[in-house]
Amino acid sequence: MSKYIPTIGLEVHAELRTKTKMFCDCPNNSDEIHPNTNVCPICLGHPGTLPTINKKAVEMVIKLGFALGSEISPNFKFDRKNYFYPDLPKGYQISQFDQPIVKGGQLSGVKINRVHLEEDAAKLLHAPDGRSSLVDFNRGGVPLMELVTEPDIHGIKEASAFVRELQSILRYLEISDADLEKGQMRVDAIISLTYDQRPTTNDQLGTKVEIKNLNSFRAIEEALNYEIERQSQALDSGSEIAQETRGWNDIKKITTSQRSKEQAHDYRYFPEPDLPPLTSDAFDLKAIKLSVPELPAEKRERFQKQYGLQDIQAALLVEERLMAQFFEETVSELEEENDKTASPEQVKLVFNYLTSDLRGLMAELEAGFRDMKITAENFADLIKLIASGGISSRVAKDVLRKMMETGLDPREIVKQEGLEQVSGGEELELMVKKIVEENPNAVADYKKGKTNALQFLVGKAMGALRGRGHPEVLRKLFEEELIK
Ligand SMILES: [Zn+2]
Repeated sequence: MSKYIPTIGLEVHAELRTKTKMFCDCPNNSDEIHPNTNVCPICLGHPGTLPTINKKAVEMVIKLGFALGSEISPNFKFDRKNYFYPDLPKGYQISQFDQPIVKGGQLSGVKINRVHLEEDAAKLLHAPDGRSSLVDFNRGGVPLMELVTEPDIHGIKEASAFVRELQSILRYLEISDADLEKGQMRVDAIISLTYDQRPTTNDQLGTKVEIKNLNSFRAIEEALNYEIERQSQALDSGSEIAQETRGWNDIKKITTSQRSKEQAHDYRYFPEPDLPPLTSDAFDLKAIKLSVPELPAEKRERFQKQYGLQDIQAALLVEERLMAQFFEETVSELEEENDKTASPEQVKLVFNYLTSDLRGLMAELEAGFRDMKITAENFADLIKLIASGGISSRVAKDVLRKMMETGLDPREIVKQEGLEQVSGGEELELMVKKIVEENPNAVADYKKGKTNALQFLVGKAMGALRGRGHPEVLRKLFEEELIK
């Protein structure tokens, strides 16, 4: 264990899911594959054009503020952040400097400093030979929120867990898709090391190093881990840590120096003269507050209590809002049937079939809950069929796939395809006799005492019955047949 204690602050950017861009009417569509189609003179920064504020984007940041228990600033404004780069046609970015929309709050015990709103820059594409670059302005001017935490995190896992929880909340609030891999969410981490004890004031912090653009949870953890190692070794050898901005090289797994860390005054911030200052009472704060749904943390706790789930089970279900909703709807269908209580066995079946079978199938077919053909009512019917022994677990997998393709009621599929589980009668007895006749070697093995030969015979019969046989009943029938 290192004798140095890391202190980490995070700056998380997320593209907001508005219909149009931040200051013009161009579509905000990250799926657009044709470059430079969602553009206009405003987001291309032509002289003489004027921006207008997208109120929806402001409302989204206010909504996040309510979810984080923050203060919604009564007055806020936009500022120009001046710097030159080819992805920024105006030569400045419209951002917020000293009066952000949201101040304070907390998430997972980490204190939040602020959340502000700005416009995204365009995307640069570099030619493989390194001799030219292309600019795609589709992303230029897309509303981007930036959440800044206090330097309040002291562990690597804690940092990535914070980002995961924030991602989940942004999705619950339906304000961002927040996909790190797609660049819809981007993370910068500011890290400093102190000897032996946690700093209690900002002055006690070590030299701050910023790592830019971490675009996966793995990159966040690996980059922080590398940086803690690098700085510890430097401090051990008595060298100074440079205050700088570093980039993460995901192939070499190292951070590299990019530039000395800029200060706020480097950007010559000044109030945006083309936009009016705003007041929060111009927005329907009550309605925005009411639109905040039950958040993941509360939901996890409720799921544990209400459905008797373990914490990891609840976490898995709550990760995706629509999956949690589907789980609850399915259980409630079963409750109605049972006169108000779903048995723990039924809840367990719903959990298992939902989180493994259904989710596996969805991943295979690249389907989401939003466009799924299976209703909670039909899924509950499937669970009932399984629980009552109406179909075997093997048949259940086939039925589920059919449901996914057709949206049909599982009972109808079972009837149409003759898949009811057979747990007695002549059909099974005849099948057992037939398999015994066809497999003399396995029968001989069994009689010599090789008990797994029995499993082989049961498997043969199940195959011939297309999975419809009741495995326990088959086992018994074989045992009886083989004693004869
Ligand atoms: Zn535009």
